[in-house]
Amino acid sequence: MQVVRTARRTTADGLVVGTSGNVSARIGDTVLVTPSGVPYDRLGPRDVVGVDLDGRQVLGTLTPTSELPMHLAVYRHTEDAAAIVHTHAVHATAVSTLVDELPAIHYMTAALGGPVRVAGYALYGTDELAENMLSALRDRSGCLLRNHGTVVYGATLDQAYDRTAQLEWMCQVWLAAAAVPGRTPTLLPPAELDRAAAKLSGYGQTRDGGAEGDVPDVPK
Ligand code: 13P
Ligand code: ZN
Repeated sequence: MQVVRTARRTTADGLVVGTSGNVSARIGDTVLVTPSGVPYDRLGPRDVVGVDLDGRQVLGTLTPTSELPMHLAVYRHTEDAAAIVHTHAVHATAVSTLVDELPAIHYMTAALGGPVRVAGYALYGTDELAENMLSALRDRSGCLLRNHGTVVYGATLDQAYDRTAQLEWMCQVWLAAAAVPGRTPTLLPPAELDRAAAKLSGYGQTRDGGAEGDVPDVPK
């Protein structure tokens, strides 16, 4: 199932190592989450755990992810969140130790709702971490967790995953630019991010009659 497939992608694409990170999807009042501490290549579709919005287990026998408080906090407070991806991606985690906000180095900042904040550090799996994350997520679909990693939500698992990959990529770009001695990266002003957000809302194959993923006709 898609939660397992997305979790496997995070390891395959190098966004986590070992059993780090976790993935969830909300279907109605049930949240499907990855189990805690199980390598993703050993996960079968039946190993996914289901909980209600109060965290009561309604499906599966394995213990749910230790980050259940973070996942549930997002779903309780965010209507348009239907999927969440949490990673320990290298560049994002490095950036989380350096700044309070990822500088607006690229227009894809707009795809996450604006400059991505860093949530204050708290021990993994705690309500305190979930609280810090919620305040960093205000008006954003993703944030960094100080000395820990990323949390990103989306309307689908693919969207949450793609936003995570973009966030990690932007962190890599900023680290590369900021590391050049004697130079300071230029940043995009808020008005330019607003323009990018407006344009991104019509990005891709959005013309009437074309299904998502359709290849446009090329004149011969
Ligand atoms: P789980 O294996 O419990 O999901 O924990 C991994 C993690 O990333 C904790 O922050
Ligand atoms: Zn983690």
